[in-house]
Amino acid sequence: MPRPIRAVISQQAMSHNLSVIRQYLDNARQAPEAAAHGAPATSPGATHIWAVIKANAYGHGLETAIGGFAQADGLAMLDLQETLRARQAGWQGPLLMLEGFFEAQDLPELVKNRVVSSIHHPEQIRMLQASTLAAPLDVFLKINTGMNRLGFAPQQFGEAHQALQALQQQGKVGRIGFMTHFADADGAHGAVDAPAQVFHETVGQCQGSISLCNSAAVLRYPQLAVSAADNWVRPGICLYGSSPFANTTGEEFGLRQTMTLQARLLSIQNIKQGQSVGYGSTYTAARDMRIGVVACGYADGYPRSAPSGTPAWVNGVATQLAGRVSMDMLTIDLDPVPDAAVGDWVTLWGNEGPHIDEVAAAAGTIAYELLCALAQRVPVHVEYSGEVVEK
Ligand SMILES: *Cc1c(COP(=O)(O)O)cnc(C)c1O
Repeated sequence: MPRPIRAVISQQAMSHNLSVIRQYLDNARQAPEAAAHGAPATSPGATHIWAVIKANAYGHGLETAIGGFAQADGLAMLDLQETLRARQAGWQGPLLMLEGFFEAQDLPELVKNRVVSSIHHPEQIRMLQASTLAAPLDVFLKINTGMNRLGFAPQQFGEAHQALQALQQQGKVGRIGFMTHFADADGAHGAVDAPAQVFHETVGQCQGSISLCNSAAVLRYPQLAVSAADNWVRPGICLYGSSPFANTTGEEFGLRQTMTLQARLLSIQNIKQGQSVGYGSTYTAARDMRIGVVACGYADGYPRSAPSGTPAWVNGVATQLAGRVSMDMLTIDLDPVPDAAVGDWVTLWGNEGPHIDEVAAAAGTIAYELLCALAQRVPVHVEYSGEVVEK
């Protein structure tokens, strides 16, 4: 028997979240001021969704997410290996490498598997110039609009675009789209106005698909996602049920949690007032109380930074951490759950438990980090319409 801990993944919730995002986009398309934020005043066209499945699909498992996002228009990831796995899993649609290819020797595989590559640096263009390819590579030219991480500065755009067009003439590059990534879509309202303006001014009259929006931008500025003839959005976290914004949960946007983390009670300690719990004795009982010891620790991906008071639920009843999270265990206050017994399931986050966004906030982090940190040693169960199947 494995340790009594499990992550339950819901493909239904994934597909639900995808349809929620589609609804946002449909609503925006019908809104009168669809062309906004410096976008050219064309009539809004189609919006396509790249479901972002990098980082092992935010900890959910690549193949599981590919099933859950079967209705997406494309899948976006980081690694060539992930694109190959997507093809092996039967995904026929578009695939995007968000950071593009890293080495010239990967180019034949990209082309063979019809992978679209972001082009963010002159070095990638040089690799394309030096290569011979069996078929043209579709690309998205990435523009740095203020994040200052990846992408060409607006003043380098013309040269990069011309180089790609020359490669297009030589049959090495196929379609050329344009993308950027916002630093502050989750920040103050209007923080994307200037970068979006820079993007549209830089792209100017160039024809091609565009891609600007992550989850925060789709949810907050959906007009940006419908502002071109062929617009591709790149939502990640919202498809896994979490909010990209501080002090909110995904529920507020109609999203469902896709991962539930549960572990059983291993032991129960009856402690006296004044006694303490766990490493560092950081929690001292203010009264005689029952402490539940749960088979989940930081080596499972639960954040060690979660302090006493972080929510956890037992048998549908809300309670909280008491004492420091250790490697393989954590401890909770069982007083709100007098009937709790060894062997009962404790929900650390997810359905019938605290929202992962609340747990992340309590731990001083974001749901992204918790999801991605789910450890290999945690058995994953995939839920099909309510039925749990072990993987
Ligand atoms: C990770 C990533 C996304 C998805 O971001 P979310 O905040 O999870 O929606 C979109 N675009 C790029 C370039 C990314 O790296």
